[in-house]
Amino acid sequence: MNTIIDAYEVNGKPIKDWTIKEHNEALDKLGARIYKPFHGVLVLGGGTKPYMIKVRKETKDGEKEMELVDALACYSAVPFGHRDPVITENVNKFIAQMATIPRSISHSYLGPWQVKLQEFTQMDMFLPKSSGTEANEAAIKAIRKWAKNYGGRDGKGIKGTPYIITAKNAFHGRGLGSTAMMDDPTTRKDLEPLMPGFEQVPFNDVEAMEAKFKEYDGEIAAVFIEPIQAEAGILIPDDNYLRDVQKLCKENNALFVLDEIQTGYCRTGYNFAWQLYDLEKPDLVTLGKAMGSGGLPVSCLCGKKEIMELFEPHGEGSTFGGFPLASFVGLLTIHELEKRDIIKMVRENGKYLKEKLEEVAKNYPEKVKEVRGIGMLIGVEIKPQYDGHKLSLNMIEHGVYAKETHDTNLRIAPPIVIEREGMDKIVSALDASLADL
Ligand code: PLP
Repeated sequence: MNTIIDAYEVNGKPIKDWTIKEHNEALDKLGARIYKPFHGVLVLGGGTKPYMIKVRKETKDGEKEMELVDALACYSAVPFGHRDPVITENVNKFIAQMATIPRSISHSYLGPWQVKLQEFTQMDMFLPKSSGTEANEAAIKAIRKWAKNYGGRDGKGIKGTPYIITAKNAFHGRGLGSTAMMDDPTTRKDLEPLMPGFEQVPFNDVEAMEAKFKEYDGEIAAVFIEPIQAEAGILIPDDNYLRDVQKLCKENNALFVLDEIQTGYCRTGYNFAWQLYDLEKPDLVTLGKAMGSGGLPVSCLCGKKEIMELFEPHGEGSTFGGFPLASFVGLLTIHELEKRDIIKMVRENGKYLKEKLEEVAKNYPEKVKEVRGIGMLIGVEIKPQYDGHKLSLNMIEHGVYAKETHDTNLRIAPPIVIEREGMDKIVSALDASLADL
């Protein structure tokens, strides 16, 4: 891929001639160390298939260009893969038309996107944002506003702190509200005191949830959870769990709020994971990642009218939430998901991939604890004495980019349009990588 920037000189050299080491030095010296990227690999662009990426990789003789299967899809943010012709062509055309305008003047894309969102999500109203964590921050505000007005046993408002119950090991993003919802000590380190009013319970434990409702009787405004815990290692709840929690919320006049930022947009073979569990419509849902087809950060808080209408002008806003390009891409993403019959594809391919991964896992009973997953969201959990980061490195050596989460889980979540050939490469790479572990 040649762009004007490739030939642009930084540090006295066209960027295209920088070695991987030079890139890494710039990352390490100048960037806050918030990630630990694989050091010997540099992504150059999309590959020859939508589910492939082209990389430069260090070898003992220097650097070589090669392709990897992208089995992470930017944590589920890239549904159609890289270089999708429809998305690329339309985004290019759109950018050629205009840059952006603020939300204080109407434009012709937001209304149609919201109508399409309503059809797709079955929710009443929408508050667009850019990142997932922003959608969650907006959800916390919505919960608090609702709690002050309609929360509590008598529905006349919670007078003191309105409590939000979240799950242990959850992931909700990096804003301070999202951080307060999570119990991971590294995430919270040096940030306390965090926003008050959050209580964590173990995921998939109805009794623990019941006990919390008893302990904070009349003070609980909402339960806020991921329907499937993705970062925690693709943890799938029992069939009744979410239904029982939703029932508890109803009985206690609390909102039932789902973070579907990773699980939404067909990743599980349903438009949204909540549809897997025979639930009533949630009160609020947060969405992000795949909403922008991987090319653009697009997120949204969706909810029931009586909650969402508590937002008012100047009380909340965003420069890029719902800006013309985001609205256009948001609309295009839903259109393409429906047109390409993605749900059917995800169900068939997800079943195939999981079965094949399970077959491989059977060959390594001493190393693999379990393969779990649904649709195109699959986790391979290895036994605690083995190192998930090493397994990810092995996968790269065998041509696949997949990433460990929580040390012992390898997350496999490729673009949902992946073909058999790509899935077979993931399966054989896992086989070889487990053998090398
Ligand atoms: N919620 C969930 C379930 C996520 O998986 C993520 C990101 O991985 C987020 C929220 C945060 O999204 P973002 O990184 O776009 O802020």
